[in-house]
Amino acid sequence: MDDGIYRNTCPRNCYGTCGILSHVKNNKLVKVTGDPSHGFTKGSLCAKGYAYTQFVYNPHRLKYPMLQTPRGSGNWVRISWDDAYSIIGKKMIELQARYGSNLASGYNKYSGNLGLLHYATEGLFNSIGTHTKPVGNPCALTGLNALEYSFGKKFSAVPEDMTYSKMIVLWGANPAVTNVHQMKFIYEARRKGAILVVIDPVLTQTAKKADLYIQIKPGTDMWLALGVAKLLYENGYASNDFLNERGEGWNEYINFITHGITMQEVYEITGVPPEAIAELASLYYSIKPTATWAGLGIQRNSNGNDSIEAINSLVALSGNLTIPNAGLYFMHFDVETFPNKLLNLEGPPNELVLESRSVDISDYANNALSFDNPPLKLLWIASRNIFTQDQNLAEWKELFDQLELIVTVDMYLTKTAMQSDLVLPAATHFEEEDLNIGYWHYWISLNQKAIPAYYEAKSDLQIARELTRKLNQLSPGFSSFPHEKEPIDWIYEEITPEIKHLYGINSFEDLMTKAFHKKEKSIFPDDRQIFRFFTPNENNCVASKAPGLDSFTLLTPQSLLKIHSQYEWVSWLNTKKDESLIEISLAAAKKKGIADQDKVELYNESASIIGTARISNHLPDNIVLTHQAGSNPINQLIKNKDTEKPDSSTYFYDSIVRLRKWEGYNV
Ligand code: SF4
Repeated sequence: MDDGIYRNTCPRNCYGTCGILSHVKNNKLVKVTGDPSHGFTKGSLCAKGYAYTQFVYNPHRLKYPMLQTPRGSGNWVRISWDDAYSIIGKKMIELQARYGSNLASGYNKYSGNLGLLHYATEGLFNSIGTHTKPVGNPCALTGLNALEYSFGKKFSAVPEDMTYSKMIVLWGANPAVTNVHQMKFIYEARRKGAILVVIDPVLTQTAKKADLYIQIKPGTDMWLALGVAKLLYENGYASNDFLNERGEGWNEYINFITHGITMQEVYEITGVPPEAIAELASLYYSIKPTATWAGLGIQRNSNGNDSIEAINSLVALSGNLTIPNAGLYFMHFDVETFPNKLLNLEGPPNELVLESRSVDISDYANNALSFDNPPLKLLWIASRNIFTQDQNLAEWKELFDQLELIVTVDMYLTKTAMQSDLVLPAATHFEEEDLNIGYWHYWISLNQKAIPAYYEAKSDLQIARELTRKLNQLSPGFSSFPHEKEPIDWIYEEITPEIKHLYGINSFEDLMTKAFHKKEKSIFPDDRQIFRFFTPNENNCVASKAPGLDSFTLLTPQSLLKIHSQYEWVSWLNTKKDESLIEISLAAAKKKGIADQDKVELYNESASIIGTARISNHLPDNIVLTHQAGSNPINQLIKNKDTEKPDSSTYFYDSIVRLRKWEGYNV
């Protein structure tokens, strides 16, 4: 590679999707800086981004394909890529011969890298015909479904517009930790006089900066949104916006907030004092435009869908949908406007098995264990670290026991990779080409190959191409993956005339020079769209599951210097000394005889986690808080989600735990 500056994009599951300028000297990434042409990130990165040189050249990175015999023993031996492809190819072909289809082969992949060419994994499996595939979205599906219901599409306003809002309501969002670039626009709005309201069970870094902070019981956001709407409507302060009365379900919604709930119920269920709710209603009435951001945590419980719909409806009723610089923020899924040729690659038909077998990714192990015709026998894991992320680990272990081959593609030897037969070293985004589309902002940016691969690391696309060749060598015609196509060919195909028009791009070469913004309006609706108001259902009368007297709701937000288990190996960011902190309230500490820095144990019927107590003056009595991932990850405590609702996110925040001082024994 030539020395110089290359354009990259941070592909992590993060609001930023930051444009990066990569400085390369003697084939080495020597420095990264932010791309000034990117109008959302404006030439800066977060600390994780600036640490990428250590992420790339890290002694813990995987260098070669490795085989572990027996699985879980730690007895790893280096093998060649050709041998790795032979092991995988022979097993796939043998399973097809044994069962008459490829349903016994499946994958589990999600958001470790959101670049479009990372859909090569999906493309690879599509190319072998019907197989077992994950569906859904563990993080945001409930909220996205609620957006579809309310707006008819995944509507989320343009983040830069928040600069011009007169009031910003951050409802369960903590951008000071999770979306640092958005803080620039919030600070700018405040400099111009905007009011900042934060609604959150926890006094977060963002909440500390608010003009009005409302502490709410977890899982009761629907009630607060309905209560504020009730006050607005009954006091004659609902907007005269044409959207009201024209929106679907207006009469039922109004009937419910006027006759179906009382303010007393709202105060008791949410724990929010009457004065605070009245103040919020008064602000919604008197200040426009107001931007309302519904955070992801709101929808990580069994009330999540209703809460997001109720917030959407409050935004509409208060007249903040149809004016500029107001609106509703959650996230969009504009990636769906692209052809997604790899994701949608069609494979050869199987006359006996017409359709692939779908597995809800939020309940993968349970679902997969129920298959017996044929059972799942080969699992390919990419962009995922199941053993620090997923709930139901006992079922995962049972599923792993029945699998005959587990292949993990990753940059590091994660907890999941350690339980695999084969690990394949993955390239970082600096070592491959890609195209990235944000899910928060509306920018598109190219990812160039800036440096040679680290030792023998390969991109998902390269692995798909090479494995295809091996499969077809062993069994001609087994895979229809177009292995001859280069990464650049796939990117070209994504830049269709429609995409060029939407983003104002003249040619692909334009992307080599800067990032581009979609022509997008924050105002809803256009002439064809219909807004649907919150619909009461039988669950609306049931308060969120409150913990019992001696139990606690477990909240597990992201921390500033990691995204789940990503970046754990970067010592510039994570020294490991603070990874098992368990935050508890003063009252809980007194009751349990726990002092700051004592070892404490969080436990329930699923598992037990030992950590170090940090006593907080601000945390509500019935909440304990700890961060995701780490060496003793909290997903062990997360129970099964409600299988009655397969079309939802994982209900992480419905988890109830107990707490005690650790006396050096395990439950
Ligand atoms: S982790 Fe997020 S904020 Fe940080 S560089 Fe990557 S996309 Fe940007």
